[in-house]
This record gives sequence, structure tokens and C-alpha cells, in this order.
Amino acid sequence: MVTVCALAVVSLHRLGQASQAILQENYRSILAAQNMIEAIERQDSATLLLLLGHNSEGQKQFQEYEVEFLKWLGRAHDNITIAGEGQLVKTIEAKYQDYLTAFSQLREWRLTPAPNLSTDYYRQTMQPQFQAVRERCIELRRLNQQIMEAASIRAESVSTRAIGSMLLTSTAAVGSGLAFSLLLSTFLVRPLREMSRASDRIAEGDYDVVLSIRSNDELGNLASKIVTMSRKLQEFHQLNVGKLMAEKQRSEAIISSIADGIIVVDAHSQIIAINPSAARIFHTSPQLAQGRSFVDVFDHQELYESITITAQTGETPYLSEEQSILSMSDDNPRQYYKFSITPVKTEDDQMLGVVLLLQNVTQLKELEQLKTQFVMTASHELRTPLTGISMSIELLMESAQEKLSPTQQELLKAAQEDVQRLRMLVNDLLDLGKIESGRMEMDVDAVSLGGLLEKAIALFSRQAQEKGVKLTSSLPENVPDVRADANKIIWVLTNLIANALRYTDTGGHIHLTLRRLGDYACVLVTDDGPGIPLDYQPRIFDKFVQVQTPRDVGGSGLGLAICKEIVKAHGGTIWVDSTPGNGSTFTFTLPVVAASAITRTYET
Ligand code: ADP
Repeated sequence: MVTVCALAVVSLHRLGQASQAILQENYRSILAAQNMIEAIERQDSATLLLLLGHNSEGQKQFQEYEVEFLKWLGRAHDNITIAGEGQLVKTIEAKYQDYLTAFSQLREWRLTPAPNLSTDYYRQTMQPQFQAVRERCIELRRLNQQIMEAASIRAESVSTRAIGSMLLTSTAAVGSGLAFSLLLSTFLVRPLREMSRASDRIAEGDYDVVLSIRSNDELGNLASKIVTMSRKLQEFHQLNVGKLMAEKQRSEAIISSIADGIIVVDAHSQIIAINPSAARIFHTSPQLAQGRSFVDVFDHQELYESITITAQTGETPYLSEEQSILSMSDDNPRQYYKFSITPVKTEDDQMLGVVLLLQNVTQLKELEQLKTQFVMTASHELRTPLTGISMSIELLMESAQEKLSPTQQELLKAAQEDVQRLRMLVNDLLDLGKIESGRMEMDVDAVSLGGLLEKAIALFSRQAQEKGVKLTSSLPENVPDVRADANKIIWVLTNLIANALRYTDTGGHIHLTLRRLGDYACVLVTDDGPGIPLDYQPRIFDKFVQVQTPRDVGGSGLGLAICKEIVKAHGGTIWVDSTPGNGSTFTFTLPVVAASAITRTYET
């Protein structure tokens, strides 16, 4: 653009100079020639005036225009700029002198008494001289006009050339500007683009970046830094990947070596990890199970539901002892697994998945069965001799009463009581064994729980009265019947009331409540006795569990275990709510007739 401007200035300057030259060089000469023409024409008129007899007027005008002519002739003389002009001016000068001389002659004749001569003189001498001067002046004007035209043509050509050169220069300037931009984009934008692409690849985790920028400027510097950075990142990544791989392999090795089955599922119950033990349990292989949905691999709807609920809620599900046992009937011998479901969360409480842990408890189960079997056999074997001993003691007490001293009688009485206790224990054990092994006979019918409660109260009212314990009840009539074996439920009720009576001191209060709870009828046995310590509450329904107290209140620790088995066999549940020092409430539920879930048959 600077070049274009400079060129424009030079061209305009030259154009100006050319125009100025035209004006300077020729204008004055043309003006002079024009004025000389006018002056000599006036002088010619003055000559005619003179010829017409206006002597003084003619002379005066002639002289006046003589001065004018000479003035312009002088200027023309001073402004000789073109070839031939000087010569022409000199000719005009000479011819004008001749004309002046001729006029003097004419004037003299006009003043003398021979004026007739003057007309001819004018025609023959003066007019040709006048014409000669005038023509030379016209020639001078034409010469200058020609030069002026030539100068104008020259100026025009200069201007055309200036326009052309300016167009050319502008085009060249635009072209070179474009070329420069292209060059800039090649040298600046291309490397930047290349570096941007490289950064994108690094961001996507592809650290194998090569850049073709080799310049020694800032761009080259930046490019080499990007390459260095990508290498460092790659090293770091490989280091991390290596560590992670080692960590993963270690975890996998640990999980694989664990004898218990472990299955890890994600929040959508898809199997993320499974160890060989777990795969064996479900008769599959880790390779087959991995990545598939839990329910597609393992046909255990209840387990799947528990896992799904845990994955959705993030809470460890509550499962009772029985619910947390998985029985694999396909296996021979049948295998039992105790399982636990645990949610896996991040530090900020985001659900990652669920871990299912399966422990083989078949041996424990078998041991338990053996134990039950042994207890039942032993109880059975003990029952007959115990009956015998009891009868013998009774006979002895009746027949030899007079011969026995009071101490001996006391001893026999104590023996009889112990035998009775032993017989009760043996009976309890036998009952429990029967229920547990599913061999207890059940006589199921529609039963009014209210009626059973009234019977139970009647059984204990005297005992309660004697002990000074108040026995009350709330028995609404609108509670539907339940499907149950009336004798078994009476057994449960008497056991709970007997316990309450046993552990409630004189002046205490036992209250029985019957109410409906959805599809269940429920019975609450509330006392204001000592309550049950918190650590005992979860296992109070287990066999032989008795709260350790300083005073011996008797009992075998089997009553609640039998209650639980009976209630369970009816499709109900039993639990205790107790605040130590503030009494206990034992509650059990039984399904009402319409919703009865008792479909199982119990064999003897
Ligand atoms: P037991 O034959 O010893 O009564 P149970 O199975 O009926 O056996 O009861 C187990 C234990 O639970 C008892 O030994 C007692 O410590 C506790 N228990 C049962 N009922 C009550 C109650 N109503 N109040 C306080 N403790 C109770």
C-alpha cells in the first residue's frame, strides 16, 4: 500500500507538472497573440477613422492601441518557449514597425493637402501590412495552441499511464498481500492446527503424538514442549496402568483364592466379577458369567430380587437366619450356602455395585441335623426309663410312706420333681425335633384366636391371682379366624403367658392384645417384668438361650424356640420388643383364613 501511495503521489505530481507547464509556457503567449490581434484590429479601425476624416480621433485610437500592441508584443517576446516562436515574434516586430511607418506616412498625407492619395495608399500598402502582422499574430497564437494541445495530449497520456501503473501496482499489492496471508497461514495457522489436533489426541488418551513443526521460533518451541509432555504423560500412564494392572491381578488372585463364593454385580445387576468358587456353586464358569445379567446366569429369583433392591436402595437387606440360607437341591448331596449381600459405595455415597458372599454351611447343617437326630434319639431313649422312674417313685411314696422318715420323704419328693423336670425337657426336645424336621402332625382348621386367648387366660387366671399379678386382655371381635392347629397355638400362648408370669413380680401386670394387621391377625403378650437385655434379644428364640440371672427361675431355654418353629410352620412370624427394666412384648402373627398361606403338609 505504501508503494501504491508513493506511485500515486509521483504520478499526480508529474501530471500536475505537465498541466502547469501547459499553462505557464503557452497561456501567456496565446494571451499576448490574442491581445496583439485585437490591438492591431483596433489600429486598423483607427486608420479607417483617419481615412474618414476623423483625424484626431483616429490618431488617438491608433496610438492608444500601439501602446497596447507593443505591451503584448513585449510579453510575447519575454515568453518565447518553443522552437520557431522567437523567429515569429521577430517577424511580427519587424512587420509591425513597417506598419507603423506606413501609418506615419498616411497620417502625414491626411494632414497635407493631398488626402486623396491616402485611400489608395491604405488599400495598397497599409492593409496588406496590417494583414501580414495580424496573420503572424494568428500564427503565433496557433503555434502556442498546437503546443498546448500537444501538452494536453502528453498530460492525458501521463494520466493514462498513471492510472495503468496504479492499477498494476494495486493488483500487485493485492496479490502480494494475499500471498503474504497464505504464507502467514502456512507458517502460523498450520502449526497451530497441528498442535491443536495433537492436544485433542492427548486428551483422548492417545499419547503417541508426532509433530512435524521444526522451526526455531516460539511455535517450534511450543511443539517440542507438547511432544515432551505427551511422552511424559505416556510414561506416567504406563506406570499407572502397570500399577493398576498389578493391583487388579492381586485383587483377582485374592478373590480367586477365597474358598467362599464371591459375586460382584454393578448397579444394574450385571456381573462384574465372579470367583471360581461362586461359579462352581452355580455350575458355570467365570468366563461365561462375567458381563451377563445376574438373573440370566443364576436362576434364583429371590436372591436376584434381594440384590436388585440392595442395588437400588444402597442398604444392606435384612434377612433372617432361614432367609439367608441358599439350598442347592441340584447338588448331590444337597448343599447349603449362607449368603450375605453388601452394597459397595464410593466415598461420596455413589452406588458402585453389590457384593454377594456365599459360605458353604453344608457341614454345619449336617452337624446340626446329626445333633437334632442325636437329641431326638437320646430323648426318645430317656423318655421310657424316666416314666419308669417316675412311676416307681410314686409307688414307693404311696406304699412305704409310713416306713420312711420325713427326710427320706423329702428326698423322694425332690427326686420326683427332678424326674418331672427331666420328662418335660425330654418332651420339649422331642417336640422341637419333630417340628424342625417337619414331622410334627398339624391339625389345621379355621380357628378363632380370640377364643384361644380366652382359654389360655382361663388356664392362668388362678395362678396369676395367687402370685398377685394382674392378667387383662383386649380381644376385639372383628378379627377374622386364622388357619391354625388350635392345640399348637394354645401351646405357644401358654408358653408366652407362663414366661410372662414367671418373670413378672407380684403386683405386676400382664396384658394380652388381639388385633388385625393386614392379612394377619396378631397377638401381643405384654408384661411389665424385668425385660430382656439388648444383646440377648436377637437370639432369645434360639435353642437353650436363657438370660443369665442371679435367681434360678427354672425352665430349659427351649420354650421360645418351639414357639418360633410352631408360628413359622403356620406361615407367621414372632418377635420381641423389650426395654430392659421396662417389660417385654412378645408378638406373633398368623395369616387370617382368606389369606392363609398354609399349604405345606406335615408328615408324622
Ligand atoms: P425358659 O424355659 O428358660 O423360659 P424360654 O425359651 O421360654 O425358655 O425363654 C428363654 C429365656 O428368655 C428365658 O430364660 C428368659 O431369660 C427370657 N424370657 C422369656 N420370656 C421372658 C419375659 N416375659 N420377660 C423376661 N425374660 C423372658
